[in-house]
Amino acid sequence: MAKTDRPRGCPAQLVKGLSVHDEEWVLHNAVIHTQSPANPRATAVWIRNGRILETAGDELKECVPHERRTDAGGRCVLPGLTDAHLHFEWFSLGLQRIDADQPTLQHVLDLVSQQARTLAAGSWIRGHGWNHNAWGSGDLPTRQSLDSVAPDHPVFLTAKSGHASWSNSCALKLARVGGSTPDPSDGAVVRDGSGHPTGVLLEGASDLVASCLPPITVSDVATAMRAGMAKAHGLGITGVHDMDGVRALRAWQQLRRQGHLQMRVCKTIPLDHLDEAIGCGMSSGFGDDHLWIGGVKIFTDGALGPQTAWMLSPYENDTANIGMPLIEPEALEEAMTKAATGHLASFVHAIGDRANRMVLDVMAALRQREAAESSRPLRHRIEHVQLIDGQDIPRLADLDVIASMQPIHATSDKDIVDRFWGPARAPQAYAFRRIAETGATLAFGSDTPVETIAPLPGVHAAVTRRRADGSPGEEGWQPQEKLSVGQALRGYTTGAARAGGVEAHLGQLSSGYLADLIVLNQDPYHVDPMEIDGIEVWATMADGRWVYQHPQADGFGP
Ligand SMILES: [Zn+2]
Repeated sequence: MAKTDRPRGCPAQLVKGLSVHDEEWVLHNAVIHTQSPANPRATAVWIRNGRILETAGDELKECVPHERRTDAGGRCVLPGLTDAHLHFEWFSLGLQRIDADQPTLQHVLDLVSQQARTLAAGSWIRGHGWNHNAWGSGDLPTRQSLDSVAPDHPVFLTAKSGHASWSNSCALKLARVGGSTPDPSDGAVVRDGSGHPTGVLLEGASDLVASCLPPITVSDVATAMRAGMAKAHGLGITGVHDMDGVRALRAWQQLRRQGHLQMRVCKTIPLDHLDEAIGCGMSSGFGDDHLWIGGVKIFTDGALGPQTAWMLSPYENDTANIGMPLIEPEALEEAMTKAATGHLASFVHAIGDRANRMVLDVMAALRQREAAESSRPLRHRIEHVQLIDGQDIPRLADLDVIASMQPIHATSDKDIVDRFWGPARAPQAYAFRRIAETGATLAFGSDTPVETIAPLPGVHAAVTRRRADGSPGEEGWQPQEKLSVGQALRGYTTGAARAGGVEAHLGQLSSGYLADLIVLNQDPYHVDPMEIDGIEVWATMADGRWVYQHPQADGFGP
């Protein structure tokens, strides 16, 4: 390339001398969907010290020496995806637990054996999900089988039913459960012919062992989160809005101090810590580009499954039930006003149409007060918005309240929506398209570990309104609410960034933005929509560094 036709932003002395910066790369030969409305497509992106200098054509690669160029092989590149609603501590700790929901006893024992080989002797091995009825003989498992694979680690595995647990001899010994241990009033110790415990404890008897489990420390959570981040990187996630509690906030800070935080984290504060947060001046946005405070998390109702979501009219299958509010409107207004006075936005869980209306009513009052006081509008949001009355939909945009929703819930809940909310209300549920068309900001997440953390299945659900197995058929469920691929991806990029108050430097691949991006092995804009959930992440860059590459990928190494 001639020096005279260097790309915009590529200084002449660089082209000439190619001076090398420590953290400088050009990713080229890519199909980049920048998510920038002004400049939506590019084929190369130039990154230095964690920031994007420029997105443009492949001539950008001339700005850096050969060893600083990465060929994307014609693959699709997107901004790193943000999961705008999840429970990262809960998710990460779950990764350490054995999934005991296995087809045979031997499968479970193999998993326990694997963990016993990686954990120091004496460390607890925990897990959940076993169901002996699925294991051929139907016999309850025994401590001896666990002893055979983990003699030196206490093992505690809870049953899928939630009504029993299974421990090994080491755990029973620590809990001092033996032949002479009486049954507690609310449970039973299962015993063999000679009266010795078999290892299975029923109902409240499980507490005999559970009460010996070591408390989970901040360091435990931080360690688990490192594995959680690695898992998330492999699925294309570079940012999270974490709804877990204050222990998670401490763990994120520990990771930040130790230099292990490779995730953009927008953290909420639980309502019962609001006074402390306000007392020490923690306001929305406090923190840095890696970890910042989002707002206060408030619950207003329950959920659809247990039929505790608060409804304008009764459940279809239970005409005496309208669910219930978890907070009265006056208390909600008081809490949100107090938070707003401390410059904290409210992240309000609302699932039923009545809960959503109550939140919007309170938010309307807050917006009026903001206007009267000419204070900066806070980035208030409703979490879930699963059922919102048609007349309330435009209020989201009018009041600039972010709709933080989870597309995968729409397809996993479709049957209970039909059953519990019925045919008149089902068309209003998960109303992605109508909400988007009013101009409101949609932010998308997974609510993991309730659902998979993988974002591309969420894009698939929003675009097709079908499950991965294709149900309920070609049309999809409530197909009028299908989004385009672009609309769905905005929920995980620019929409999530706006929901976190960081749209000025995250959510798109544009000059000056932070360098979080992903390379995909297929382009979601161009594949059959039913294939979107099978798209694999080829490489992930967080903060200007490669943090993940696909086992078959090469050249994106950390
Ligand atoms: Zn949640």
